[in-house]
Amino acid sequence: METTLLPDQLAPIVDNIISGIFVFVIDDSRALIPFYINEGMYRMLGYKYSELDRMLKDVRRVIIPDDMARFEQALDDVLKDDGAVEVEFRTVTGDGNVRWLQVRANLYGKMDGYKLIAGVVFDATDRKEIELELALQAERNSILLESAKEHLLDYNVRTDVLNIKFENSDVFHGEMVIKDFVSGHDFEAVHEEDRGFMREMFSAAMKSKLTDSVEFRSEYLDDDKKCHWYRLTLTSVRGVDGYITRIVGRVVNIDDKKKKEQELEMRADKDSLTGLYNKGTATTLISQAIKKCAENRSAAAMIMVDLDHFKSVNDTFGHSAGDMVIEETGRTLNDTFKGHDIVGRMGGDEFMIFMDDIKGPDDALLIAKKLNLILCRNMQEEAGHVFVTASIGIAMMDETISDFKTLYNLADKALYITKESGRNGRTIICGGEITTYR
Ligand code: GH3
Ligand code: MG
Repeated sequence: METTLLPDQLAPIVDNIISGIFVFVIDDSRALIPFYINEGMYRMLGYKYSELDRMLKDVRRVIIPDDMARFEQALDDVLKDDGAVEVEFRTVTGDGNVRWLQVRANLYGKMDGYKLIAGVVFDATDRKEIELELALQAERNSILLESAKEHLLDYNVRTDVLNIKFENSDVFHGEMVIKDFVSGHDFEAVHEEDRGFMREMFSAAMKSKLTDSVEFRSEYLDDDKKCHWYRLTLTSVRGVDGYITRIVGRVVNIDDKKKKEQELEMRADKDSLTGLYNKGTATTLISQAIKKCAENRSAAAMIMVDLDHFKSVNDTFGHSAGDMVIEETGRTLNDTFKGHDIVGRMGGDEFMIFMDDIKGPDDALLIAKKLNLILCRNMQEEAGHVFVTASIGIAMMDETISDFKTLYNLADKALYITKESGRNGRTIICGGEITTYR
């Protein structure tokens, strides 16, 4: 056989190509005998000329057996002469490594009655490794997905069709397809109060490329038909024309997270020791109530309670005994005042109450007298003896008062007067008049 394949001038150029270029002769027994191999092929496979020539006596020697069936099938396809055929298989290179080869070949003509097959070989190892890594990642994701009970969401902007893939659900098997999702249903599966956010996020995602997330409630996404909290994270995807065509996302149940958050919120506006409002919340609520009373010119009282000699409880019986006293005082105040009154712990052993459901100062004084009686505590134990009482300061709202600070200063002054006049009593400031009772 004579090579008419490459003119001498062309051979050095072809040899510089990084890919392998080949022409094989295929004989009657399907043996593939090399007819032309460029240098790129030798470099790619890492064999010396003599080695490769020996190896390629039949090309099948360099293909790992697992991939042989694929190779034979490709060879059949090439012999059909329908154009170029592509196949991928692994080979062992001269240095002993396994590499992926991507071959594109076709029937090239005949020579001396034998068919010629010509083609190009690329080293596809790097791409294959990436593909494998991606496949592993997808597998990992699907495992994570299953354990996290996620639902996958795929919305087609053009057709207005939503496809939800339910993962790990006992009731919803596989997929749910909702037609006219935005135009027809208007997020009706989402809790009424959360629909607004959802609508806004979808319409923003339909306009431009973005990734966003929203927390919402729904009773349609879990098997028990109960209302749960979920987080939807979505990403809009542009089509080849540059317009947003898809919105893909995932929905995950966040009930546990929400519960913790609500607990934290509770703790943030309530005092953790007594469960009463903390200073910040009490101040805010009382400020709002004062404004209302000032507008309506209705009677109201601010009552400040501070325990007497509380420090000696800590000093004598320890801090946790002190805590218990504060806790009990909080409980007493909570039981004494009605739901409408605002009761807060301002810090340490100081409490504040705002009553706006009263007729006048007598109502406030009556309740303060009761408090003086019930907050008396005679603590006598081995460690010592402490007599705990309470001092009370009352400031009545009048037409000159319209803000928290003014009323607070008066109540604080009243409390100070009680302390100064021997503690365990109450002082009331009403329209400039100051009266102390013991
Ligand atoms: P008086 O009422 O006459 O002013 O004296 P008092 O001993 O009550 O002293 P005061 O009200 O000035 O201080 C309250 C003390 O309460 C200060 C601090 O050591 C203690 N205290 C503050 N917060 C806590 C708490 O959460 N737990 C305990 N056990 N003690 C606290
Ligand atoms: Mg005190």
